Amino acid sequence: MVNTWDQLEKLQPTILRMLKNSILKNRVAHAYLLEGLKGVGKKEVALLFTRALFCEEKIDGYKPCESCHNCRRILNGNHPDVHIVEPDGLSIKVDQIRELQAEFAKKGVESLKKVYLLIHADRMSVSASNSLLKFLEEPNAQTTAFLITEQPQQILPTILSRCQVLTFQPLPPQVLVNRLIENGVVPTKAPLLASLTNNLEEALALNVDEWFAQAQKIVVKLYEVLDKNPLEAMVTLQNDWFGHFKEKEQIYLGLDLLLLIVKDLLYIQINKEGNIVFKGEIERLKKYALRASSRRIQNQMSAILEAKRKLQANMNPQLMMEQLVLNLQEGSSIV
Ligand SMILES: [Zn+2]
Repeated sequence: MVNTWDQLEKLQPTILRMLKNSILKNRVAHAYLLEGLKGVGKKEVALLFTRALFCEEKIDGYKPCESCHNCRRILNGNHPDVHIVEPDGLSIKVDQIRELQAEFAKKGVESLKKVYLLIHADRMSVSASNSLLKFLEEPNAQTTAFLITEQPQQILPTILSRCQVLTFQPLPPQVLVNRLIENGVVPTKAPLLASLTNNLEEALALNVDEWFAQAQKIVVKLYEVLDKNPLEAMVTLQNDWFGHFKEKEQIYLGLDLLLLIVKDLLYIQINKEGNIVFKGEIERLKKYALRASSRRIQNQMSAILEAKRKLQANMNPQLMMEQLVLNLQEGSSIV
C-alpha cells in the first residue's frame, strides 16, 4: 500500500509540500477539507499527516518515522486520540458527531492533541452538519480535523469556509496503470483503461464491463473494415455500431476508442511503441501503420475530433457517424 511520505509525495507533490511547510512552521490548521477523485490518496495523506503530528522522532523535522509507538498505533488504527468517522449506513449521523464531540470534550488521553477524520464528509445528515459546524466554530487549539470528500460541492458553505481546502490531483497515467495492475488488471489492458479515465474505481469497473469489452471489439472491427474494405464500413456501422453505442456517453467512449487506435498508429510510425494503449492489438496495428501515411493518420485524428465536437453540438449521432466514416475513408487508397 502507498502510504509513506516519499510514496505519497510522488502522487500529490503540491499537497505534501504544503503540509511539510505547515509542520515545519508549526502552522497547522484546525480543519482541512481533502477533496478529489476516489483513489488519489486523500485518506492516506490525512493519516500520514496525523502520524507527523504525533510522531516522537520525526525525520528532518516533518516526516513521520513510521516506527515509534505513536506512528505504529496510528498505522494499526488504535491510537486513543485519533478518531475516524465513516458513514453509518448511508450517512454520517448526528449521534456520530455528538459522540465525537463528547470524546473531544475530554482531555487527550495521552497528550492535549486530538485528530479526527470524517470519511465521505459530504454524506453528513443536515443535523450532523449543523452539529459539526458548532464544533468547528469553537476550535480547541490542539484539535485537527480532516474532512475527506469526493463531492465538495455537497458540503455546507459554512463548513467549507472554516476549512483549509486541499485539492488532490488525478493520478498521473503511469501511476494509475501501476495501481490497476496491483488491483489485478492484466498488464496489456491497463494502459487503455488509464487513458479513458483518471479514476481508479471507474477503470476497474470498465475492466469487468461486458458492454465495454464488446465496444472495443466493434471499434477495432470498424477500423479494420475501413482499412481493408472501406465500402463495407457503412454496413459495419449499421450492423454493429448503432446497436451498441446508443447513449451519448457511449458514443463519446466509442469515438475515444477510435481516436486511441489512430494515436497508436501514430506512435508506431514514430517508433514509440511503448506508448501504445491497445497492447493486445499491436500486431494488427503495426500492419495498418505500415500501410497508412502519417498525413492520413493525422487527417483521421482531425476527423474524429471533429465528430466529437459535432456530437457535443447535438448533431444527430447517426448522421455524425456516417459523415465520420466517409471522412475516415478519404485518402484510403493513398499510401
Ligand atoms: Zn514516529
